[in-house]
Amino acid sequence: GQARLHLDKAPSEMKELAQTFDNMLNRLFEAWEQQRQFVSNVSHELRTPLTIVSGYLQSTLRRGKNLTPPQQEALGIAAAEADRTVQLLQDLLDLARVDHGRMHFHLELFVLNDLVAEVVEMAVQYSNRVIDSDINRELIEVLADRDRLKQVLLNLIDNAVKYSDPDQPVTVKLDKPGEQVRIQVCDRGQGIPLAQQSRIFERFYRGDENRARSPGGTGLGLSIVKTLVEGMGGQVSVRSQLSQGSVFTVLLPAPS
Ligand code: ADP
Repeated sequence: GQARLHLDKAPSEMKELAQTFDNMLNRLFEAWEQQRQFVSNVSHELRTPLTIVSGYLQSTLRRGKNLTPPQQEALGIAAAEADRTVQLLQDLLDLARVDHGRMHFHLELFVLNDLVAEVVEMAVQYSNRVIDSDINRELIEVLADRDRLKQVLLNLIDNAVKYSDPDQPVTVKLDKPGEQVRIQVCDRGQGIPLAQQSRIFERFYRGDENRARSPGGTGLGLSIVKTLVEGMGGQVSVRSQLSQGSVFTVLLPAPS
């Protein structure tokens, strides 16, 4: 009789448990949504004034012929930091959008060669570094979102520049080995320890040695790269050897 009684009771207890679990989950989702909304609002509110601060600093610097060198240096640092913070806020906004499933992709079919050349040209301008491009003569078509893809490539090139010595070249390659389009960003920099390679695409993850060396980073760049590439139906991966350099590979669907 007892076992029976026990069994009889089970369904209602299970129901209660399921209900409690459901309530907990809902509260968790609510809290999570509130947090996402908070990050999004704060980022948005901070971005506008900081963009203005950054603009004034830049123009003062440009017109500051009669500033002393230490003053120029101080303004330069302030301007760079303001810029970096604007970028961080933009990254946080992007991530909040991704979490909300609100990141829209405008996928279109286009020839990739020009876009890659254009991004490389941009990167050369702002980094003052030698960036080679090995862009196949063959015109390669891709199905992707132009602006998001630019953002991906700029992020990868930015890292290649940041984590290698100024006298080492960065190379961007484009080809179509099979059914997919392949873009590679190669550097001959510090490389990434094997143990870190699986973690670098996580949010806020930064290599230990780089926290001190380049305090400018946010650890968000590669997580955004991954989200964007996967959102366009592609994959991103890394191959790297310590003190030899790194190769980041982006594969995107080619039209059949
Ligand atoms: P951040 O560069 O702001 O730290 P990322 O998400 O772009 O953030 O990169 C995460 C980490 O991956 C970096 O801190 C660095 O340790 C490592 N990393 C990324 N790109 C490279 C590269 N080209 N060479 C060496 N290490 C890299």
